[in-house]
Amino acid sequence: HPVIHWFRRDLRISDNPALLAAARATPCVVPVYIPSTWNHSHAWTGPNRQSFLCQSLGSLSRNLETRGGRLIFRSGKAVEILMALAQEVGAQAIYYNQDPDPFGKSVEIELEKACIQHGIECHGFHEVTLHGPSEVLTQAGDPYRVFTPYSKNWLSLEKPLPEGLPASLDTPQHLRSESAPQLKHWSLQAAASGVLEGGERAAHDRLKTALAERLSLYQGQRDTPSVAGTSRLSQDLRFGLISIRKVYAEAAKALSRARSKTSTGSIETFIKELAWREFYMAILHHFPHVLEEEFNPDWRGLPWDEPGEKFEAWKAGRTGFPIVDAGMRELRETGFMHNRLRMITAMFLTKDLHHDWRWGESYFMQLLTDGEIASNNGGWQWSAGTGADAAPYFRIQNPWSQSARHDPRGEYIRRWIPELKEVPTARLHEPPSDGRPLAADYPLPCVEHSKERDRTLAIFKKHKESR
Ligand code: FAD
Repeated sequence: HPVIHWFRRDLRISDNPALLAAARATPCVVPVYIPSTWNHSHAWTGPNRQSFLCQSLGSLSRNLETRGGRLIFRSGKAVEILMALAQEVGAQAIYYNQDPDPFGKSVEIELEKACIQHGIECHGFHEVTLHGPSEVLTQAGDPYRVFTPYSKNWLSLEKPLPEGLPASLDTPQHLRSESAPQLKHWSLQAAASGVLEGGERAAHDRLKTALAERLSLYQGQRDTPSVAGTSRLSQDLRFGLISIRKVYAEAAKALSRARSKTSTGSIETFIKELAWREFYMAILHHFPHVLEEEFNPDWRGLPWDEPGEKFEAWKAGRTGFPIVDAGMRELRETGFMHNRLRMITAMFLTKDLHHDWRWGESYFMQLLTDGEIASNNGGWQWSAGTGADAAPYFRIQNPWSQSARHDPRGEYIRRWIPELKEVPTARLHEPPSDGRPLAADYPLPCVEHSKERDRTLAIFKKHKESR
């Protein structure tokens, strides 16, 4: 009897636990992908991530063919499609890798129920993180709320090893398939021109580049956005083009070969970043309310300003703060933003413009190719000061000093704001002292940082006292 492998955010053939298990049961595997039924009903996605997805599906389709498989596309409600397909092909089992997001999990529960009703086996595999959310708990068996003890525990656990490719597949040839989805499937316009190439091969190439050129210098370079100093694997992990086991195993191998203090420290720091990803996924798992409200109850109900002109200026990269604008323009033009800039722009929106972090969270989800609900929410709540292990509210970063520290020569700023090419570096890192714009078509700073900082402190303090 055939079995079904339902592809979701695991768009690869190598080291794919559910696919391997399906292929071990029988070569007669029916791989299926069900494009989301999203029709602009929520503002949490957009063309960059969807176009990367489409390209990655094309690559997955070709990769499956090299093993004798064929990717089937069917659109509709996942559980209904899977049940109908199982009946059509006479499948007795469905294999899939689990989704960490609340919506994906709820579909899994429905699927399990439907499988029981129809007498079909249902096999869900955990692969999205090295350690599941219930594997890393305090001694009392509670979830962690703070990163450092979580990461210590996480680091001490033995890590699962990657596996290889499935043996040959033999998908029945006669099955009907829709054509692979394209942006128009969701009525979306073109993606940003700088979105990276999708597909499993491209992801493996990025890992190779990171290992050869970036990881051993990571510690010194990861906070300098003008340098290509980070792995650029986030969208690959988001779509499962490469497994986290593979990334970890290669980093651990590089660590065992590292000979200098710099490279050892760097690779260790990189591995800790992988733990941040799992920490936020664990937070979302144990505290799913973070998608609705503040992780820290002290900060629920804070009075935020209504989004208006300043929010539009922030989105457009026209706040008059060059470092903030450079980050926002990188995001618009590439579907990516360097981590340091995500922190600067998020803190600017919440602490200088007093906007609810949820507006920024949703805007990032619309544009980021690596848009990951758990990490994005974690990053936003961290920046707003409302999240798990967040910066205390009174530690408000100054965008001007962040600018001078992380882009001392102004290279990153000039790359993304061409109208500032000729402006002397020092002037990029401070409000214009003569009150005149830095360039003819560049705006004056839309707020005065020190004033807004004081206002934020007062708002947070008052809120705390009122509770
Ligand atoms: P590297 O520096 O090479 O790190 C390696 C991997 O570790 C990343 O690919 C990512 O999977 C993980 N990682 C690194 N830093 C973090 C972090 N702080 N939190 C969680 N995981 C991390 N990351 C996303 O993947 N998707 C998001 O939607 C997202 N939104 C964010 C929003 C805000 C406001 C902030 C402050 C951070 C956000 N991050 C998000 C985390 C981080 O900015 C990106 O993971 C990182 O910039 C991706 O680049 P890289 O792959 O080169 O990272």
